[in-house]
Amino acid sequence: MRPTSSYARQTMNQRGCRTLKPGAGLRLIAGWLLGLVLVPTGALQAACLEMGDPALAPLQAMSRAEPAKAVKVLEATLEAERSLPHTDPNRLAGLYAVLADANEALELDRAARAAAAEGLKHASRVTDNVRIDLLSVLASNVYDVAGLKDATSMIDTARASVAAGSMPYVCLQITLGVLQYRQDRDDLAMQNLTAAYRLATRHGWHQQRVLAAEGLSHVFRNSGELDQALSFNQEVIDWAETHHQSIDLSVALFMRGEILRSTGRYEPALKQFEAARRISQDIDDRQGVAFADLRNCQARIGLKQWALARTHCRAALGAFVAAQSHDVEQEALASLARIDLAQGRAARALPVLDDLLRDNGDDMPPRRAAALFEQRARTLAAMGRYQEAFVDLSEYAQRNSHEADAERIRQTAALRARFDTDLEVDRNLRLTNELALEKERVSRRTEQLRWTIAAILAGVAVIAMLIYILIAGYRHRRQLVNLASHDGLTGLPNRRRSVEVATQALVAAAHQHRPLAVGLIDLDHFKAINDRYGHAAGDLVLKEFARLGRELLRSTDFLGRWGGEEFIVVLPDLTLDVALLSIERLRAAALQIKLPDAPESAHVSFSAGLASNDNGLVSLDLIIAQADVALYEAKSQGRDLVRISSVSLQAVSTSVRRALPRSGRTIATGTSET
Ligand code: GH3
Ligand code: MG
Ligand code: MG
Repeated sequence: MRPTSSYARQTMNQRGCRTLKPGAGLRLIAGWLLGLVLVPTGALQAACLEMGDPALAPLQAMSRAEPAKAVKVLEATLEAERSLPHTDPNRLAGLYAVLADANEALELDRAARAAAAEGLKHASRVTDNVRIDLLSVLASNVYDVAGLKDATSMIDTARASVAAGSMPYVCLQITLGVLQYRQDRDDLAMQNLTAAYRLATRHGWHQQRVLAAEGLSHVFRNSGELDQALSFNQEVIDWAETHHQSIDLSVALFMRGEILRSTGRYEPALKQFEAARRISQDIDDRQGVAFADLRNCQARIGLKQWALARTHCRAALGAFVAAQSHDVEQEALASLARIDLAQGRAARALPVLDDLLRDNGDDMPPRRAAALFEQRARTLAAMGRYQEAFVDLSEYAQRNSHEADAERIRQTAALRARFDTDLEVDRNLRLTNELALEKERVSRRTEQLRWTIAAILAGVAVIAMLIYILIAGYRHRRQLVNLASHDGLTGLPNRRRSVEVATQALVAAAHQHRPLAVGLIDLDHFKAINDRYGHAAGDLVLKEFARLGRELLRSTDFLGRWGGEEFIVVLPDLTLDVALLSIERLRAAALQIKLPDAPESAHVSFSAGLASNDNGLVSLDLIIAQADVALYEAKSQGRDLVRISSVSLQAVSTSVRRALPRSGRTIATGTSET
């Protein structure tokens, strides 16, 4: 069995804070004068990556709830596992990871590191979450300068091997921030922790957000922004309470006490230490109890409650000695020496301080060493050994000025980092706003476009409809006009229209002194055709005759339906002789019209009368009257004849008269007699 997805444990900094990680240097000095030794940091014990393997989950839960018990169970399990002939390396790695976590929870950094190192021997895959967890524990439990450097590059390498922005990435970024913080690189720590906090917030990764918040509460406290520090710390407390994480709650309360203590609010700080201690005691977390005692002692020193301070420092010292936590042991001793000095027992304090400074402070961080020189200077002065006190004070001043310079540079860098971070936040916010604005603009433009298109379409539709209505109206009018001026059966202009056209033609001809002939045509015995072959046959004959007329006459000629079976022909520019030929052609063609269901012998004929404007006539009525007379003659002379009006004939020129036929079916009136 092996964890399908492991978990990485991130810790800010153990309460023990093996290397001194005090507040800002100047504040440290102030604190020192007030009798404070150092401002340590807490540790959040929540796993950064959730447990994926159901088999390991209960052990991991136990490592958080009852870490001391979990260590025993895990050690027994590993013992049994190792005695098996075939062991699953992944399972071993997972078990070691949980063991490392439990030891870390108990702030037993040595044991935590040992378990992590052992687990790493079995963790095969580079990007495996178990491996990430083991690496994190290994790195997080380092406190010496050289070790921190190695741990930082190790985590940096691991971070480069996971997907940017993924949860393992965020977890490793938090670890990295913690390590940078421990190396006094508040600027880098702030950048990484802020980035991790933001990523976790954006994804809704609460646990990771809380881990980053915890780190940030330290960095902000360190840069003197205590309200911010308290606010991040509150996030951790809220989370731990909601999730019933006793050890995390204990650490967070402890941390709150630390923030309060660093502002000189000792009474409320004590309340937090006492609350943290109660929880640690409940879960048998001895280091937790010892840290609470140490801070209680230091808060009491701040309150000048020397007796109570001594009790708590002694209790803490005992526990740290038992746990071989050397650096905090030193811190407890320094605090006790501080109490001795305050109670006028400088002689008792001096050997303790001498022992702490036996390597000239080379085995501890410079700030701590500087502070111890200052403490010894005051102790020596209290004993009247001013010469030596002066030497120590010079040492303190020299080291402190270095430290103060370094601190100023660090503070500047931290401020600069914050400035960069704020700038980035601003920029992101601006970009987000611009994006939202642009989206809104685009959607507004799209909406506008949609409306414009709709309006255009509506406009086009309206215009199309108007055009349609206009065209339809025009057509309708034309139809009406046509109906009013044309004959429905033959399609020829009706009598009214014929009168108009003929009148115009007559006027035009007179105006231009051009000849014009008018003919009246009447189909012969049409009543008989109707009677014999039916009215429909009669209609057909009328239509066929109209078609022939249109076909045979010139485009400038005019054929209209005069009424019933009578037609009118207007032939502009034609002298009577030529006009007669035209009508004759029509007469010959009419004879060819086929009557439906009629014998071969049956045919259609017409009689016609022709008149012209030769005598200077401009009145249509008169010309029609003359043509009518000629038509009457044709009828009376036997039909199927074309006759010319005698009045017209008298007016024509000799040449025309000569050209007229003397006999036949198309002859001039009277010419046959003359
Ligand atoms: P005539 O040779 O003397 O002209 O003899 P007709 O029979 O042609 O003359 P009449 O005036 O006696 O008869 C004309 C007939 O034409 C009467 C009428 O029924 C017919 N007619 C008039 N208009 C139409 C029409 O639109 N369709 C049909 N089928 N017959 C029509
Ligand atoms: Mg008639
Ligand atoms: Mg007739």
